[in-house]
Order: sequence, then C-alpha cells, then structure tokens
Amino acid sequence: MNAANPAIIKAFEILNIDLECHEAFLAQQGLFVDGESVNTSELNSEILIDEISEKGDYILVVEGAIANGPEGSGRYCMAGGCTCKEMFKKAAQNANLIIAVGTCAAYGGINSASSDIVDLLDFRGVAFTKKDPSKGMLKVLGIDKPVINIPGCPAHPDWIIFTLSALISGNIKVPEDLPEVLDEFGRPKVFYPPNYTVHKDCPRYVFFKKGEFDSHLGGDKCLLKLGCRAPSAHADCTLRKWNDGHSYCVQAGSPCIACIEPDFPDNARPLYSISIKKKEED
Ligand code: SF4
Repeated sequence: MNAANPAIIKAFEILNIDLECHEAFLAQQGLFVDGESVNTSELNSEILIDEISEKGDYILVVEGAIANGPEGSGRYCMAGGCTCKEMFKKAAQNANLIIAVGTCAAYGGINSASSDIVDLLDFRGVAFTKKDPSKGMLKVLGIDKPVINIPGCPAHPDWIIFTLSALISGNIKVPEDLPEVLDEFGRPKVFYPPNYTVHKDCPRYVFFKKGEFDSHLGGDKCLLKLGCRAPSAHADCTLRKWNDGHSYCVQAGSPCIACIEPDFPDNARPLYSISIKKKEED
C-alpha cells in the first residue's frame, strides 16, 4: 500500500490483478450483522476464503509469521473463530504459488526472536523459520508449494510489485525458473544480490575507509560502531531508496539493522541501547 510508482491501484490495473481477498482493501462487514450470522461470501470473509480456495488457481501473498503454539494448536494467533494456522492451510493448499512478504512471513522475524517464550509461541515463517527450511509452516502442514520470500521490515513495495509483475508477465516461470532467480533463502537475487550489500554504495563509505566513526546518533560519519549491520545486509536499499526513492535508513541517520536477513532481529540486537547517566549528588 506504500507503493509509489506505480501506486498500488494503478499497479493492479496495469497487471490486471484480480484482488480476490484482502482484509484492508475489501469491505466485508464481518461474521455478524445485527447479531445474525452472515452467510454470503460478499459479507463474510471466512466463506469468501473457502470459495477462493475451492476454485484454486491463485497466488497467495502472506504477511506475518504464523503461530504454531501452544503445542501445535496455533491458538496463539486467532482471527474470528479460526486459527491463522488453519486459515493459512486453507489458503495455501490450492495456491499456485506463495509469496511471503516481510521478514515475519519469510523467516518468523521478531516473532521468532530468541526469548524465554519463543519455543512456547512457536511462530513459523511460511517456508523457513530463521535460516531453517525444515521448520517452515508448510513443512508442519505437509504442504509442498513453490515459495518466493520478499523479506524486509517492512518489505520495499517495488520488491513486491516487481516480483508480481515478473510472474504475471511470464518473465519468471514457476517452478522451473525459481532455482535460478532465488538465493538460498528464497529471495529474488535481483533485489537481494548475494554479492552486494547495503554497505557498498553508502554515502558514509568514505568515512568507513578513513576509519572515522560516529559515537552518537545524529552525526554524518560511518555508523559501524553504532551497530550498523549493512556489511552483512544483502539488499539494494542504497540504490533503490525508500518512500518513492527519497531516502533510506543509513542516509536518514540510523544504522542498518539488516532487516532482510533470515536471522533478523537476533543478528542486530540490541537495535538501540540507552545509557542513563546517574545524576551526581550534590
Ligand atoms: S554507515 Fe554502515 S553502510 Fe555506511 S559505510 Fe558505515 S558500516 Fe557501511
């Protein structure tokens, strides 16, 4: 929805995308109207998803990690009376292809960050959890589908729209072209180049070379000592930039947190740390 050129509605028109179901775009009223359950797909998205799944022949785009906990029930994430795990199963089983958008859908993201409760929650990405393809939700459900990962926290709108465009125009054929166009973590190499990092064309690179580093946010030197993870972040943010090509994290003064990598956010923690100086007593 943050796409700028083309804007999202224009992109739907150009690509002839028939948006079958999307919680924010469609105007379903929910499961009940005036206390009575609604039994048409026009008003009830649960029925709509059943109908779409039955018909088959669609691309499923997934946002967000999918809860498997507690104990494989998926009940840590519910929508209406249904677990997201169940809803995902329904939508995934007849899809031609699945696109996992955002680091949570691709790899679990912040939901799978290490913590005391991470095993209990047991959030999964679609085809991977962190770097592990044996722990994706599709494996749990025993569903075998081609998957394209578009990670990022958030994902760049160009990465999503251009991937859809390449698929719809037939420039990427599924599944035969996928091993060639995707990297080992299922990302399109054209946006997440294996031999290129966010560090490479950084406007602060000259300071990196000279060994001049900022020690506080707000400066204009290299941010490496403030935790910049760009040297291990494989994405084209520096060239593509964000918000219609306006700027990107490092240009705006924030260290890169490598949000497109499968081990995010553990690879970048702590994102910020605050030191509180104790006021000296008089
Ligand atoms: S600020 Fe980050 S991306 Fe830029 S030169 Fe330093 S380490 Fe590399």
